[in-house]
Amino acid sequence: MTRRRLTILGATGSVGTSTLDLVSAESDRFEIDTLTANRDVEGLARLAITHKALHAVVADEACYDALKVALSGHDITVAAGRAALCEAATRPVDMVVAAIVGVAGLAPALAAARTQPMVALANKESLVCAGSLFMRDVGENATVLVPVDSEHSALLQALGGPAIGGAPDLTHVSKLVITASGGPFRTLSAGELARVTPQQALAHPVWSMGSKISIDSASLMNKALELIEAKYLFGIDSARLDVLVHPQSIIHGLVHYRDGSVVAQMANPDMKVPIALALAWPQRMDAQVDPLDLAALGSLTFEQPDRRRFPALGLARQLLEADGGCSAVVNGANELAVDRFLAGAIGFTDIVAICEATLDSMAGGPLGDPQSLDDAMALDAEARRKAGELAARPARSMFAG
Ligand code: NDP
Repeated sequence: MTRRRLTILGATGSVGTSTLDLVSAESDRFEIDTLTANRDVEGLARLAITHKALHAVVADEACYDALKVALSGHDITVAAGRAALCEAATRPVDMVVAAIVGVAGLAPALAAARTQPMVALANKESLVCAGSLFMRDVGENATVLVPVDSEHSALLQALGGPAIGGAPDLTHVSKLVITASGGPFRTLSAGELARVTPQQALAHPVWSMGSKISIDSASLMNKALELIEAKYLFGIDSARLDVLVHPQSIIHGLVHYRDGSVVAQMANPDMKVPIALALAWPQRMDAQVDPLDLAALGSLTFEQPDRRRFPALGLARQLLEADGGCSAVVNGANELAVDRFLAGAIGFTDIVAICEATLDSMAGGPLGDPQSLDDAMALDAEARRKAGELAARPARSMFAG
């Protein structure tokens, strides 16, 4: 493999730092062009110096001076602001790793998808909020799009490639299944779920991740977002998409073929596995993870998800059938509600209830499929406004808890 030049959007996060760990372990194969963060100036400066980046960007303009000071004396250019983030995403490189969390990652990921040869996509919210638009731009630019989410990475492998962009052949596929660990509350009753705290929700039993996706994993909203992500990535109808609870998180995705064969991908639950696949795609590299020892594990278990206790999955079914705008609305409402839950302002079960109520209140209008970044961001803003009103209701009497 020729040396690959990378830009990492969201370099200071969980996916970003795991990516950089892999890059340093194989520094003869990779070099860094640009690293970005939101406000973590200290972390970004440290990473930019360590990995000899050429350019560093903070999204928050107020952090510009601090970043400039932190990088003075180093040959690294500095920029700040949302426009600078999108410009950074289009600097010519071999691959952009899109690992910003939330809809904030959409504009730069879209900018990369429109201009770069390869995008490794961790920011699932890009597809949830503007899936048709994103995949259209990927197609028009002939971008090689490689998913970083472990379940979609598994499906890509079980489908036998090719990278998305050249759409996979689904003729003989009867079902794509993504697995869910079930999160920290898999066995709690509905009443217990209403009383869980942010600290409990952040403590995922299997995966170590950023705070937003940890809460989404606990509510199973992450699985809902992943179903929508799969719909756009693989261009598959909702009837052929499913979720299976698998607490050990060893199998990440399964492709059921019409002849009865099922091809599944297995790996220890470590994000370095799918990140390594994306970084080296279409080749492979050492992901620095423990070998999988099935004998030591002894058994793998599976169960049906409980849609009653985890209504995010029912909402996902609705969204898979609806216009893309509905997914953008639910994503915006969810981001707002997760922030409010982490701040202690609402209960855990309020999160999905607020998403459902926000969608209900907006679904009367024409949501359509976002045709532009502005369309998607307008839906996001309106959903946040509406969800903010719902979250502020005294005692939130309309929600459980
Ligand atoms: P983290 O919260 O750990 O990191 C988020 C990164 O995005 C940080 O670099 C952060 O900068 C930056 N960021 C946050 N807000 C903004 C903003 N408004 N503008 C620009 N940059 C911003 O997230 P994760 O690494 O956990 O997740 C990243 C993405 O990957 C998400 O979409 C998630 O769903 C997906 N993903 C994550 C997995 C995981 O294991 N963590 C697994 C599969 C998918 P700063 O540090 O300055 O705040």
